[in-house]
Amino acid sequence: MKILVINAGSSSLKYQLYDMKDESVLASGRVERIGMDSSIVTHEPADKPEVRDVQEILDHVTAVKRVIDLLVSPQHGVIGAMTDIDAVGHRVVHGGETFKESVLVNAEVKLEIRNLFDLAPLHNPAHMMGINAVEANLPGVPQAVVFDTAFHQTMPDVAYLYPIPKVLYRRHKIRRYGFHGTSHNYVSEQAAKVLEQPLESLKMITCHIGNGASCTAILGGKSVDTSMGLTPLEGLMMGTRSGDLDPAIVPFTMNKEDLTLSEVNSMLNKHSGLLAISGVSSDMREIVEGMEDGDKNSKLAFDMYTYRLRKYIGSYAAAMNGVDTLVFTAGVGENSVALRKAVCDGLTFLGLRLDDELNAQRSKQARVISAPGSAVRVLVVPTNEELIIARDTYRLSAAAAETAAGE
Ligand code: ADP
Repeated sequence: MKILVINAGSSSLKYQLYDMKDESVLASGRVERIGMDSSIVTHEPADKPEVRDVQEILDHVTAVKRVIDLLVSPQHGVIGAMTDIDAVGHRVVHGGETFKESVLVNAEVKLEIRNLFDLAPLHNPAHMMGINAVEANLPGVPQAVVFDTAFHQTMPDVAYLYPIPKVLYRRHKIRRYGFHGTSHNYVSEQAAKVLEQPLESLKMITCHIGNGASCTAILGGKSVDTSMGLTPLEGLMMGTRSGDLDPAIVPFTMNKEDLTLSEVNSMLNKHSGLLAISGVSSDMREIVEGMEDGDKNSKLAFDMYTYRLRKYIGSYAAAMNGVDTLVFTAGVGENSVALRKAVCDGLTFLGLRLDDELNAQRSKQARVISAPGSAVRVLVVPTNEELIIARDTYRLSAAAAETAAGE
């Protein structure tokens, strides 16, 4: 069974084609600058040379058509015909309170995703364009949607409500949702496998630290709290996002700097975080380099970033009345030896002891990096959100096919 995984943005579309026989990636790629006359298509088949071309792609329907053409092309393709694509899975950022798990797409599901446009105005409309574009190009092929928020729907009300007038929750569903759920879910399962312990028995904190960053308290395999909220702006300090701050800063800054709401919004999302404090970059590699070269602002940015992450880990240990497993994942979490050391060296009060040699080793495998006897096991687990989307899509479409065959 071949599953196409799609992550559609407003002007980009990333894809991976999986063969579920062995969960191998047959091809992956992306279409960038959709809507412009010089869109860039990059296609990477597993065992053929990469293709890159520039052409006019004005909408998502054309983008998906171009992807399918490449997948079946005699020269660059990896499948014989487009009928070889058995199902398509989409990443959808916001599932609100409606979607607690992945589902197959039908008219009702599309309507619900549309109803959530308000909560994720930059993401959900783009995902819908992706779904419609697949429908236009591959009519009748089952599609599934996998939500970034779904895993966190197990949070209790004490964790998901904001202490503001309840009418705002009732009228507008203003509450905490959390994101990166697919990743937190996957790495928690992988960590339990590495430890050879049932996930249900663990008190785990997972740190997904990439350009965006969030950490999650996972008690017995269920998300009980997570650092992102109504939007992915809350929580940890990130590459360009501020994370937590005094909400009064918004009206105060608007007033003092004569800024509009959308300007302040843009400041907090795009011009804050590591970038604002270092004045150098939002990329952790450059921050660490700057710090090693003696740049004071890079050091301050690094110290604030790790300090805030450490405080969240401490608070989630309190939320679960303990922690026995700490997991690092995503671009920074998987690769930055310095970040993991800075965070863990301040958590010895939990009985946590990092093994500096294990921490410094480079590997693509999930692995333990704490010292033997550490009260908290620390792991690095590479995340793989596309694989989870492929697995969910496979499971849902196979079950639907079985039901249909039985009728
Ligand atoms: P996204 O949130 O966009 O999915 P990723 O999880 O791919 O992001 O993480 C991207 C970030 O990972 C980069 O901005 C960079 O800061 C960081 N990163 C990648 N490699 C390294 C490394 N070797 N050391 C430190 N940081 C790294």
